[in-house]
Amino acid sequence: MTTSTPTRTGTAVQLTDLRRVYGGVAALDGLTLHLEPGELVALLGPSGCGKTTALRCLAGLDDPTSGTIEVGGRDVTGIPTNRRDMGMVFQAYSLFPHMTARQNVEFGLELRKRDKASRRARAAEMLDLVGLGAHADKFAHQMSGGQQQRVALARALAIEPQVLLLDEPLSALDAKVRTQLRDEIRRIQLEVGTTTLFVTHDQEEALAVADRVGVMSVGRLEQLASPDELYNAPVTPFVADFVGLTNRLRARIADGRAHVLGGSVPLLPGSASGPEAVVLVRPEGVRVERAPEGTVSDGSSATVVSASFLGGHGRVIARTGSDELVTVQVSNTDVTDYAPGDPVRLSPRGDAALAVTTD
Ligand code: ATP
Repeated sequence: MTTSTPTRTGTAVQLTDLRRVYGGVAALDGLTLHLEPGELVALLGPSGCGKTTALRCLAGLDDPTSGTIEVGGRDVTGIPTNRRDMGMVFQAYSLFPHMTARQNVEFGLELRKRDKASRRARAAEMLDLVGLGAHADKFAHQMSGGQQQRVALARALAIEPQVLLLDEPLSALDAKVRTQLRDEIRRIQLEVGTTTLFVTHDQEEALAVADRVGVMSVGRLEQLASPDELYNAPVTPFVADFVGLTNRLRARIADGRAHVLGGSVPLLPGSASGPEAVVLVRPEGVRVERAPEGTVSDGSSATVVSASFLGGHGRVIARTGSDELVTVQVSNTDVTDYAPGDPVRLSPRGDAALAVTTD
């Protein structure tokens, strides 16, 4: 999805050296993060890495043990939630069940003492924005999960917040609705220009919606970069693993290249210099072909362990002569050529190895 936008009107956000300690556990351990005005930053990371704690601290729902939070250049650390001007959408559907979609969207405006006519107009505008203009009089139980999350988004945006906070807003939805709503959220965010923090553990979701993605591990940022930079140049093995470099293979390092599976591939800057290392390779960075057993001894011979049809593509898992398991992504038509026990030959595609760590 394109990330270009003509105007960026939002507010800058700065989190500086945030720590949040629960008992002995540091949920945040020195998190520093800057969001440009109008930018959508996705915080990505495994369960327990501190994503939600970061969002809750920015929202004012939790207080950092130390560190500062600035919104539009103003220090808001310690200021209560209701004075921070944030719109929020959470994972669990959170509409008021006794109110219609319109009443839900009007709620925040009512609290802000907006008159009835302007509330009506704003709610209608927001429901149109999320594609629910025709559903204004429905209650939550009359809407699908995706529709309820759209109303929650309209409600969050109705108050024209300085910052929009989205905490796993799609995780309760099924795969198809999830992709649709994900793209819709990005379209709307670009249209309104609100600075947005989007918390998710889903790599594809983060890469699809964000201007920049911050990968977190144990309370800190491992890397903050644009989706393509993160994908093509992960700076640590943790990030590499998180963006799909899931094969870890022993390789010989020589002349700035990793020699693996009978071929060689270039190394990323910062990789180990060898002579031996573990090289990370994407499943789509390995080629597989049928081969008579035992014809070569260069490390490329392997035996199929499983072949799975996965809808849009297929996956073959093969065991090499040195007992390493290699996952290979193949097309959904080619996958039917392989069965467990088949002898195959593996080879790396030219640019497949992206990061290396010493063993
Ligand atoms: P998830 O995706 O599972 O929500 P997360 O990355 O959002 O994970 P956090 O919810 O921020 O992670 O939690 C980070 C760490 O802080 C975890 O170890 C968690 O157990 C701990 N933690 C979070 N909230 C509390 C709390 N209220 N009391 C004690 N520990 C907490």
